[in-house]
Amino acid sequence: MSTALTRISDHVYWLPPDKPDRPSLCAVVGAQHTLMLDAGASAAHARLFLNALAAAGVAAPRYVALTHWHWDHIFGAAALGIPVIAGAATAQQISIQAAYTWDDAALDQRVAAGLEIAECTRNIKLELPEPREVRIVIPDIVYQDSLHLNLGGVTCHLRHAGGDHAADSCVMYVEPDRVLFLGDCLYDAIYAPVRHYTIRHLFPLLDTLRVFDAHHIIEGHTPAVMSSSEFNSLMDRLRQIGSIVQQVGADEPAALAAAQARFGQLLDEDTDDLVRALVAGRAFE
Ligand SMILES: [Zn+2]
Repeated sequence: MSTALTRISDHVYWLPPDKPDRPSLCAVVGAQHTLMLDAGASAAHARLFLNALAAAGVAAPRYVALTHWHWDHIFGAAALGIPVIAGAATAQQISIQAAYTWDDAALDQRVAAGLEIAECTRNIKLELPEPREVRIVIPDIVYQDSLHLNLGGVTCHLRHAGGDHAADSCVMYVEPDRVLFLGDCLYDAIYAPVRHYTIRHLFPLLDTLRVFDAHHIIEGHTPAVMSSSEFNSLMDRLRQIGSIVQQVGADEPAALAAAQARFGQLLDEDTDDLVRALVAGRAFE
């Protein structure tokens, strides 16, 4: 799988996700301004993106917009030196993160206290070996529910979407390219004792995403751009499994059997995981 900068539509460039936990980054390039989507996991990740844009002859970003507060999407912001745009809930969470210390001892302490999860800590240590300097930028431009940015011949619509992964999750929709940048919003909840989806967060999120009618869909940690048909079938599958779990309840074998009956004998591993995550979510409804 390529990890090189790729032009996916007239105005949008995409740097695919990479190890250890680097998320997708995008540049939306208008006649007036370039907007960067998500800031990256570190200064090195952000610089890699800027260098790739420069090599492609693309104007450097004038602003960066964040999808959600998780470290891998925001730590690169300080290296960019440009205004940071975020939803209100994201800005609030980032203020909390900005007060933390980030050396190994502090990270381990937060894991022990249940404030941080071990997997994220492991990845932070890989992305940023000690001595570790983390400078967190408090967002400069903060919006409540949505914001339209006119970049010159191309617009970007930022919208709060929520979901189980992070309540503050926002998505970005680029027109006329019909590119939808999801961040991690369609993934399950990770800051919880067990990974899960809840119906009360998942179904409204699916309703919000469906409205965009996107043609190219980018997820934070998925190394391929989804087509509209792939995206719709993923959303349909999530809704169908959600409905099955709503009927069957927290009985995992029964839910797996019902899903098998619904989707055929061979449940693929992803569907299997979705059933388990939705069953686990019954405890959080
Ligand atoms: Zn995340």
